[in-house]
Amino acid sequence: MKIAKNLNHLGTESAFEVLARAAELDNAGHNVINLGIGQPDFKTPNHIVEAGIKALRDGHHGYTPANGILPLREAVAADFQRRHRADVHPDCVVVQPGGKPTMFFCISMFGEPGAEILYPDPGFPIYKSMIEYSGASAIPILLKEENEFSFSADEVLAQITPQTRLIILNSPANPCGGAVPKSQFDQLIAGLAKWPEVAIFSDEIYSQMLYGEREHVTLLNYPEIRDRLIVLDGWSKTYAMTGWRLGCAVWPRELAPIATRLAINCHSCVNAMTQHAGIAALEGPQEAVYKMVAAFDERRRIIVDSLNSIEGFQCVEPGGAFYAFPNISGTGMDAKSLQNLILEKAHVATVAGTAFGDNGEGFLRFSYANSKENIIEAIDRIKDCLTK
Ligand code: PLP
Repeated sequence: MKIAKNLNHLGTESAFEVLARAAELDNAGHNVINLGIGQPDFKTPNHIVEAGIKALRDGHHGYTPANGILPLREAVAADFQRRHRADVHPDCVVVQPGGKPTMFFCISMFGEPGAEILYPDPGFPIYKSMIEYSGASAIPILLKEENEFSFSADEVLAQITPQTRLIILNSPANPCGGAVPKSQFDQLIAGLAKWPEVAIFSDEIYSQMLYGEREHVTLLNYPEIRDRLIVLDGWSKTYAMTGWRLGCAVWPRELAPIATRLAINCHSCVNAMTQHAGIAALEGPQEAVYKMVAAFDERRRIIVDSLNSIEGFQCVEPGGAFYAFPNISGTGMDAKSLQNLILEKAHVATVAGTAFGDNGEGFLRFSYANSKENIIEAIDRIKDCLTK
């Protein structure tokens, strides 16, 4: 067989490999504490589950429009208005099976040999994977510890060239937990006036997970870039619905039909019952979301203090999402070796920073989507393992 060369450039998400090894160890009788996985440890709120079941009972068993049923797209538009006072037309919303397909579609639209796409490093690994698969050059935007893992607008603007087609941004961010201050967005958007051909892809999937005084900055509220802006959001993290596979994006009016055509070529539509559950999530009570975020905030403070008490670790306070990203260079080990050591010996799953880009060397990602007790126990185990 001769498979297409592009596939040599397709990367992966190594968090899934860690997950598989953690499951093997668990099956072999070890009690693995999983701080490697990027999904809430809460169940989907009951009223959402019930709405999905009701949709099945009511006979919603068939195909739906490829861009999503209208009541769901209307609910998405109303939700952006409620949360951010952002005007979104339902025709610009394309519903997808999760957040990832939007990345796939967006990067496919702009990426080709000769094009340059800027992406955050450390960042969600699928960005770089997809850019390289498309044949475009992947240009890293370095997120630095000293900037609390925000990008620097000046640095991003200096990286733009006539070949730049797309800039990928993600705040609050995976894996660093950084939340970009509004001043940096303001400066970046002002500078982009000089580059009217460059599109912006803003991954805002963690928009409801912000801590302290921080407020989410959605790029939807910068009218000057709306005609070249794609905003990804979704249900996976906010409503603990990772396995349902439901996400969406707001596209410029001219790109929404292209995204819809890609959906027709790819998956036809999201299953109907999940779309109905998605409406219940957006239109129903939000208390479960607030409670989950409050729990993450409490764990965030616990994990940052605990990580800083490990010799050789240094952890800045994450502003959003549910990840801590300590600098582990003081241990004298590289990220992958330390990830493997603490998985095999302490039975704690984490993900090496290098899984998120070359700039992640010297860091480990800890997801604090786990109980306080487990977080405390995990840190004790790591300390024991490192002192042996
Ligand atoms: N964007 C970011 C930054 C993520 O961390 C993730 C999942 O981990 C996604 C998008 C994809 O979400 P989904 O599971 O809905 O595809």
